[in-house]
Formats: sequence, structure tokens, C-alpha cells
Amino acid sequence: MDRPFPDLQSMTPEELADLFTALGQPAYRAKQVFSAFSRGLSVGEITTLPKALRERLLSEYVDATPNVAEKRVSKIDGTAKYLLRLSDGNAVEAVLMKYEHGTTVCVSSQVGCAMGCAFCASTLGGRVRNLSAGEMVGEVAALARDAGERIDGIVVMGIGEPLDNYENALRFLRLVNRPEGLGIGYRHISLSTCGVVPKIYDLAKEDLPITLSISLHASDDARRSRMMPVNRKWNLDELLTACAAYFDATGRRISFEYTLIAGENDTQDEARRLAGLLKLYFPDKPIHVNLIRLNEVKETGFRTPDGGAARRFADTLNRLGVTATVRRRLGADVDAACGQLRRQNAGEASV
Ligand code: SAH
Repeated sequence: MDRPFPDLQSMTPEELADLFTALGQPAYRAKQVFSAFSRGLSVGEITTLPKALRERLLSEYVDATPNVAEKRVSKIDGTAKYLLRLSDGNAVEAVLMKYEHGTTVCVSSQVGCAMGCAFCASTLGGRVRNLSAGEMVGEVAALARDAGERIDGIVVMGIGEPLDNYENALRFLRLVNRPEGLGIGYRHISLSTCGVVPKIYDLAKEDLPITLSISLHASDDARRSRMMPVNRKWNLDELLTACAAYFDATGRRISFEYTLIAGENDTQDEARRLAGLLKLYFPDKPIHVNLIRLNEVKETGFRTPDGGAARRFADTLNRLGVTATVRRRLGADVDAACGQLRRQNAGEASV
């Protein structure tokens, strides 16, 4: 039979049932295997499967559940940053964060990234490859298993641009929502994009009540194009028009990420311009701006502003009617900014 997926972890229970039926196995194996993957087991560890069957599956499919290669736990807030090793030796990062209202995992969607944002560590070595849907499920499941936690929410805000890996990212969202597996509600899932505009329109048609997060970081095209090359392809007008259409189609609040960089985009003038821009495109829509102080990446030379500058920026936005909060920096002591753990560990298989 042909193999539409490189790994079993990317398959739905229905697709697994078809596969097991074709292999002359009872259909209940599908649920057994799907549930095992959601608990972070690899194919080799599903000992309820006959050994010969496991060996056959391992010879024909990639075993997509990653291994924990490294783990750093914050002494301040318990945030755990993981380096996960994939079956081909590449590595990605995932983070487990504990909030009062539950435990959230931040997942990577690609090995590396092609988007080239000037301040970001994940893109320094370019994109190596896309993750499969099953590898992304494996990130969540491996962390849940390691931490012994039930996962309540997911943010697709790790390494990679999820809308540059659209089919796999969407399949991942549907897989983690399945009640036979992790059962994570779409309202507890956020997906962040740097602004791949055509895919925002596609996403609006999927009818998934997830939260879309837009990495904005600048309020004029010249500056945004310097910081984020994607803006040269789809400018602010095209991006914000797509966001408004996404809101109209889904009714979901749109959230904007704005990373504050000292002397670059953190002045009071910038705050006023940002408020004006958002008011122009979203005069009466519920939007929210998450302000994030830059995690310094030594290769880029950008500096982070102090806490006072961040608070003043937030105050100005709020005063002008745009809801903004400065994001608490979880795991500050274990950080190595986004993508840096992988880079430190690289030099071997990846990058
Ligand atoms: N590619 C997607 C999701 C991954 S990055 C996107 O661009 O949205 C998640 C967020 O972290 C994005 O807003 C990104 O711009 C931001 N980010 C990247 N590098 C950062 C850094 N060094 N400090 C602070 N935020 C950073």
C-alpha cells in the first residue's frame, strides 16, 4: 500500500484504522496507537503491539516522537525549556509553561526558519526542513510525558514559521484537538505568524476557533521591511487588511506581538504611530498588543530596552485606546533566547 505520510504520528485515528486493516490487524489498534502517541510513546515503546508488527512499522515509517536531549527548568517559575532530538538527528526547542489557568506548551513548526527576521536566532542558519504534523504532536506529548502534566493549551510560537508549513501545521492542530488524543480545545491554541498573507486568508476558511497572533514589531513599512524581510513581499496594508478579514470570518480576537528593541521601535513616537495604525484598521474590533522585551541574540547586535521603557510604551498604547500588556518573561534564568538552545547544540547534525 502507498504511504501518504512518512510517520504514523501524523495520521488520524481513521487513517490508522485503514492502515491496520490493510495490514490484517484489528481496527482497535488504531486507537491504541493514536493514544500512545499522545502520551509521548514512540512506536518502539508501544509494547501492547505484537513485536513483529512493531518491527514492520519501524522498518516502513519514521518514528516521529522526539527524544528529550536537554532540559532546563527555571528556578523562578518552573518554566521548562527542552531541546528535542528528532529521528534524523535534527533538534528543535519546545517550552512548557505553567500558568494559574493551566499548562501551555510552545512548539516549533520547522527546523530553522526561512523568514530572516533581523533580531531572531531561529532564522540565522536558514530553514533546514519542515516538521511533520506527527513531530509537532510528538513535541507536546514528549513534554507532557516528561513533566507528568496534562496540557491545557498550545502556542505555535517556537522555531519556524507555521504558515510556511501550512498543511502540516493545520493537520497538527486537528490531531491535538482529537478527544482520543490530547483533546486540546481550539480556543486554547494560538498560532503566530510573521505575516504570510495568502495563508491568513486560507486559515480564515478553515473554521478553527484558534487565536491568530501577528508578529508586527513596527508600524511603518520602511522599518518593518528592514526588520522583517517578509514585509517586502506583503506590506503592512496587505497584512492588516488580511487580519481584518480574518476577524470578520472568525469573530476571534486578533493579537499582535510587538518585540521592543532599544532605540529601534520603542520610542513614544513609535507607540503613538502604532496606536494610530491599529485604530485605523481595527476601529471597533477587539485587538490586543503583547509587548515583549527583546531577548538579546548576540549575533544580531540589537539591545533590549529597560522595563521602564516597556511600561511607558504600554501606557501610551492603553491611553490611546489600544489594549496592551508587557508580557511577563517566563523562564528568564533558563533562557537562551528563542532558537538559541538549538544553535548552541548545533554544529553537529543541524544548521
Ligand atoms: N514565525 C512565527 C512564530 C515564531 S516566533 C512568527 O514570526 O510569529 C514567536 C515570536 O517571537 C514572534 O513574534 C517573533 O518575532 C518573536 N521573536 C523572535 N526572536 C525574538 C527575540 N530575540 N526576542 C523577542 N522576541 C523574539
